[in-house]
Amino acid sequence: IRIAEASETEKNTLRSPICAILGHVDTGKTKILDRIRKSKVQEGEAGGITQQIGASFFPVEELRRKTKSIPAAQRLQLSVPGLLVIDTPGHESFANLRSRGSSLCDIAILVVDIMHGLQQQTLESLHLLRVRNSPFIVALNKIDRMYGWEPHQDAPLRDTMKKQEKHVRDEYDARVQKTITEFAEQGINAIEYHKNKDFRKYVSLVGTSAVTGEGIPDLLMLLVQLAQRFMTERLTTRDRLECSVLEVKMIEGLGTTIDVILVNGVLHEGDEIVVCGLNGPIVTNIRALLTPKPMHEIRVKTDYIHHKVIYASQGVKIAAPDLVDAIAGSSLYVVGDEIDREAAIDLAKKEVSDLNRYIDKS
Ligand code: GDP
Repeated sequence: IRIAEASETEKNTLRSPICAILGHVDTGKTKILDRIRKSKVQEGEAGGITQQIGASFFPVEELRRKTKSIPAAQRLQLSVPGLLVIDTPGHESFANLRSRGSSLCDIAILVVDIMHGLQQQTLESLHLLRVRNSPFIVALNKIDRMYGWEPHQDAPLRDTMKKQEKHVRDEYDARVQKTITEFAEQGINAIEYHKNKDFRKYVSLVGTSAVTGEGIPDLLMLLVQLAQRFMTERLTTRDRLECSVLEVKMIEGLGTTIDVILVNGVLHEGDEIVVCGLNGPIVTNIRALLTPKPMHEIRVKTDYIHHKVIYASQGVKIAAPDLVDAIAGSSLYVVGDEIDREAAIDLAKKEVSDLNRYIDKS
């Protein structure tokens, strides 16, 4: 068994903003995730992206490297340690990432197919984002599908745009305008990102291609910008524990485990926790805190690194007794200074009855 110690920087910095990706089916959500995860720096090397449970972590050096082709990104002062991107795109994981009704996602990417504009699930996503009050940016994906498009691998949007024929640029402008009108019909002010002077009033649009990587540096820069501008306060409150159960999974050798996103606070091996269960709150103790091993390590019997302590934000697998009935999408509470066992049980009970009401309605 390999045991990892938390580093000093993990303990002291702001937590990383958490980002989810939403949008209509087939707009390219999965492909965009794959594209931003693809890294020339091999897994495990300094600056590389690390795979977590249910999420990918982009350290700030990696974000710098990926956005270095954009001058504006070079001027950004980055104080966040990185970006935590949720691996499963779509409504469900976004909806599951909540605690006491509010969203645990700090920011989101809404993907729209530039050839189709706003579609049914785009509207549903917009509704969710509004209800949860999440800031988001819009990726107008599949720009490479426009007639006559000349691809320039991984180029920033405006660089590749300058190199396109006039008719292609005109088509792009027309499609952007059409999308802006469609957003306006939904009561949302959208604007091309380089023209956006007020992130509070306008949602930024950026053309992307998940196939050629064009516009992806811009997308990453926008995410970090958005996180830095509005989130400093949210990202600094370290003390309050916020942790959400993404999935409940049976793992050979470990029994039933829960995959959680620790959004705020700290988890320790041995902590007494309370999670929502189908038959009422489950009170148990963390037996193991696990994250995946880096890819280059040979797969031996166990594929996980054990941690004594985990600091937010991170995706982590928890092994503990009695988790069979745990409910995905509910909160996890740690018994301790912040709340005692009875209070945690009450909160979990209340949450289960709220969830039931929600399930009855839908
Ligand atoms: P999701 O359902 O939103 O996750 O969509 P996927 O990522 O699975 O993509 C749906 C289809 O669109 C796949 O065949 C992708 O290869 C394709 N696709 C995704 N992004 C792009 C893009 O930027 N350009 C082109 N040409 N195809 C894309």
